[in-house]
Amino acid sequence: MREFFQFNRTELEEFVTTELELPRYRVDQLFQWVYQKRVFDPESWTNIGKADRERLKNVFQFPTLDPKLRVRSIDGTRKYLFTVAEDEVESVMIKQPERMTLCVSSQVGCALGCKFCQTGTMGLKRHLSQGEILTQVFGVLVDSDLNFGDTFSNMVFMGMGEPFHNYEAVTRAISVLNDPHGLALSPRKITVSTAGLVPSIERFFKERVGANLAVSLNATTDEVRNEVMPINRKFPLEKLLGSLRNADLPPRKRITIEYVMLRGVNDSDDDLKRLPQLLRGIPCKVNLIPYNFNTGLGYECPEEGTLHKWQKELMRHNFVVTIRWSKGRDIDAACGQLVTKSAQKGRLREPSQVAANG
Ligand code: SAH
Ligand code: SF4
Repeated sequence: MREFFQFNRTELEEFVTTELELPRYRVDQLFQWVYQKRVFDPESWTNIGKADRERLKNVFQFPTLDPKLRVRSIDGTRKYLFTVAEDEVESVMIKQPERMTLCVSSQVGCALGCKFCQTGTMGLKRHLSQGEILTQVFGVLVDSDLNFGDTFSNMVFMGMGEPFHNYEAVTRAISVLNDPHGLALSPRKITVSTAGLVPSIERFFKERVGANLAVSLNATTDEVRNEVMPINRKFPLEKLLGSLRNADLPPRKRITIEYVMLRGVNDSDDDLKRLPQLLRGIPCKVNLIPYNFNTGLGYECPEEGTLHKWQKELMRHNFVVTIRWSKGRDIDAACGQLVTKSAQKGRLREPSQVAANG
């Protein structure tokens, strides 16, 4: 048996036409049944003849899409826990006034060890496969169809893990999501967030992956960035920003610069002066993220006034600036809080409202 979610389009075409000796147009039909209609039982693929259906049934298998847990926040955000092989991964449906955004994980844990991020404290357990990334997307979609009658309009790779440390699986999953016979999700609606792995950033632009890029900057000097994001020692600010400046972006496309505000660490007036200078020549917009102190890692969030001051000042420099207030804090679903149960060592609360089926 072969895992359907592990194929990209080219491989599926190859498999269907050469190994199964079926016509190529079956691939569009398969994508439509599985990814568009979310019908996973080959018996129900009615526009495919009975004999072919029988063959497909015997070769493809699908992962279990039922979440192990689903928890709802008072703000409408939902956190999902999926079991993949021996591990658990988390995904979040973030409720915003004008849209729903699905946030997925790319790894179990993360190797980069940023000091303000709880996932970072776990270390890297393993990379997720293309199929395990798609399991989160379709697991959430099936549950949303069934129980909430909603869906997401935007998707971000901002859950557990560093997507560019798992480049292949992440970009393969994106190609399925972009596929006109798959989810047909526009590249404008998908965002990959990286802590700044420069060679992968260059590769991402060169290959014209169908997604936007967000970069977690989080400091304006190498000194501070080395401290809070150790990956900066390998790819310091000049290299990182240089790779963004050289990016060959289509017109009107913008890179998102994320800046987690840490009181007394990266929120000084000097930082505020340096930031627009650093970003000069980079087509970008800025997301200011108040540090989520629920992670209990010893940092503090600046006063709300500081965030507004930063927003105003950056806007004066003609940047589009959004303050990203945390969602789902009460269910431990906010930025930097995703961590598997096994790694929690009793530090975090049990989810208060557990409902895997309704
Ligand atoms: N590894 C990628 C994507 C996952 S983290 C990256 O680092 O970009 C997604 C975002 O959450 C990043 O911008 C990161 O800086 C931010 N983040 C991590 N911990 C946080 C915390 N405690 N409070 C607020 N944002 C946090
Ligand atoms: Fe990894 Fe991103 Fe957390 Fe840093 S912020 S430890 S890169 S998940």
